[in-house]
Amino acid sequence: MTEAIKVTVWNEGRHEKEHEEVAKVYPNGIHTVIADGLKAHGFTNVRTATLDEPEHGLTDAVLADTDVLLWWGHMAHGDVRDEIVDKVHARVLDGMGLIVLHSGHFSKIFKRLMGSTCNLKWREEGEKERVWVVESGHPIAQGLGEYFELENAEMYGERFDIPAPDTLVFVSWFEGGEVFRSGCCYHRGLGKIFYFRPGHETYPIYYNETVRKVLANAVGWAAPSGGPAPQFGNVKPIEKLGA
Ligand code: ZN
Repeated sequence: MTEAIKVTVWNEGRHEKEHEEVAKVYPNGIHTVIADGLKAHGFTNVRTATLDEPEHGLTDAVLADTDVLLWWGHMAHGDVRDEIVDKVHARVLDGMGLIVLHSGHFSKIFKRLMGSTCNLKWREEGEKERVWVVESGHPIAQGLGEYFELENAEMYGERFDIPAPDTLVFVSWFEGGEVFRSGCCYHRGLGKIFYFRPGHETYPIYYNETVRKVLANAVGWAAPSGGPAPQFGNVKPIEKLGA
């Protein structure tokens, strides 16, 4: 099953080009490190796409051939063309899984799918984050301990202006005292969406083995599950009426 899932890792890819400290952590881009982590967990069908490619690397053919799309963006959300966002949105409603990472909370696609500002508190001091599993039986928590820790993280704090998740899998605590809903599951149309908080560009978060395990679990969860295509509109009765 893992081998069959077609994954596309999308990255804005601007920080790596413009900021030396980011390029030191992710010399070939955040997307390559995320893709490597998925491959290490048995996903063989993983491609990457970035903002500065034609159509942001998300052509109709790529989107049609993607079961799960991962999305990392931060400094250039506004440069993502609306017609591409429309296509990603339509694919999610049609069943493509979407995993939105870290500062992707402010991406056009996540805000559209959530219907809220997706705003939050933040602080960049390299403080400790303790990520608690609050839904142990969820597939995304498979194989994890009760919690895991990231020694140096950017803080995101509540309130996180999102609709209440269908399932909340992780809650983070930060050294400075804040808490945050850091693993949130949603259904929109036929598509499954997972927001995962860790992943600031100046910290080596996507090399972390537990983070990689979470992303692999999340791809497995978000992949289309093959249910029936819903039928809408006016229909004839299945049973004879008035019998
Ligand atoms: Zn960040």
